[in-house]
Amino acid sequence: MDWNEFTQWSKHLADWGAQYHQTLRDRPVRAQTKPGDIAAQLPQHPPQSPEDMATILEDFEQIVMPGMTHWQHPRFFAYFPANAAPPSMLAEQLVNTVAAQCMLWQTSPAATEVEGRMVDWMRYALGLPDDFTGVIQDSASSATLSAVLTMREKATGFTGNREGLSAKGRLRIYCSDQVHSSIDRACWVAGIGQDNLVKIPGTGDRYGMDASALDAAIRVDKAAGHIPAGVIAITGGTGVGACDDLQAIAAVAKDHDLYTHLDAAWAGSAMICPEFRAAFWSGAEDFDSIVFNPHKWLGAQFDCSIQFLRDATAQLNTLKIEPEYLKTTGDAVTNYSEWTIPLGRRFRALKLWFLIRSYGLEGLQARIRNHVVWAEELADKIAAMEGFEITTDPILSLFSFRCPGDDDMQQRLVDAINDDGRIYLTQGAFAGRKIIRLQVGQFDTTRDDVMTVATVTQEVWEAIK
Ligand SMILES: *Cc1c(COP(=O)(O)O)cnc(C)c1O
Repeated sequence: MDWNEFTQWSKHLADWGAQYHQTLRDRPVRAQTKPGDIAAQLPQHPPQSPEDMATILEDFEQIVMPGMTHWQHPRFFAYFPANAAPPSMLAEQLVNTVAAQCMLWQTSPAATEVEGRMVDWMRYALGLPDDFTGVIQDSASSATLSAVLTMREKATGFTGNREGLSAKGRLRIYCSDQVHSSIDRACWVAGIGQDNLVKIPGTGDRYGMDASALDAAIRVDKAAGHIPAGVIAITGGTGVGACDDLQAIAAVAKDHDLYTHLDAAWAGSAMICPEFRAAFWSGAEDFDSIVFNPHKWLGAQFDCSIQFLRDATAQLNTLKIEPEYLKTTGDAVTNYSEWTIPLGRRFRALKLWFLIRSYGLEGLQARIRNHVVWAEELADKIAAMEGFEITTDPILSLFSFRCPGDDDMQQRLVDAINDDGRIYLTQGAFAGRKIIRLQVGQFDTTRDDVMTVATVTQEVWEAIK
């Protein structure tokens, strides 16, 4: 493809993109395809001769688009959002075009320096103390794995990487039973093992772990000769939004000199609103590592996950490796690939720069505040529907409910709603029962979109009950 053609097609795609976003409400939110539908339309073998872009794009429309679930649809209420505010999409176009691999300061100084400043901006926006630094990772899963590896290394006197773990005894990590599966997987791949991830039941109206139960579990392990290595807390768990009492948990960890990590992948975005911090964020400043995903609620195009570190030294001592070909000379600089597991890095900070400047913190705060208010209003509406029950009250903009009937009925209603296509939500489990789970967080959603959930749920329920 020559650059004239490139110009023509990229202009075409800019128009296509705006049109797509403006007409999203006309599409079903969740793809209405069956397994294998799309693959059946793709040739078994690659073409031997070149095909032109017009044909490729035609196939994209005909074959690919019907098989997409529309995460930017204003009535997407499933999982958590993966927002892509328009300014962050523009930044990504530039990143894709310049296509730099930003592993070292030297391989694109601007990428490193913008990243450092964006971490500073977000630290300020979240009300964290000045002494936190940080790094942008691809996902909360990667940030959590980095923290778990750091726990492992700190607990073994930074000998695990070199000697392996076979002679180290049983390292133990503690969290609540409300954590995301990325915490389990981090413990699997870090060599800790699922059986050494100690899960304390979440209790109370925020489903947090009890600090004295945590303390007791650590003491039992110490008495048994195990090696406590770290504590992982959550603000805004994936299931029902569980939140730990951060101050109390950090205090227990400190008593035992344990490294601490806080998973605020979703709810972290809401902490740009100072009024939520008293209830959700007190004690966050006591954690060694904190992860939050601007690519969820905040609006930065996927992927963009910030890991804040109170003192980056322990993580650098865990992950930094410097073969000859990665050595650079000159002034002391930050090489962010030393902070993370992958070497190669995209220029993820640019979309934050575009996003935050385009909306200002005020514009981003206004969206999050609306979402929280609308979620509460919707929960009230659903509570008033005959036979419906709110199973967990809104925590920020996440709540769950049940329709009349057994667990199978809950799943039937979820499936029927998603087949209907006007809204998209998912099922979950809580206290041994199936629940219907819903969050409000899509960047362009309106109050009307949110209230549509009650209408659609009622209509679909009448049709299937
Ligand atoms: C989304 C989420 C994760 C996983 O995030 P990835 O960036 O997809 O790895 C982890 N924890 C919580 C609480 C989440 O909401």
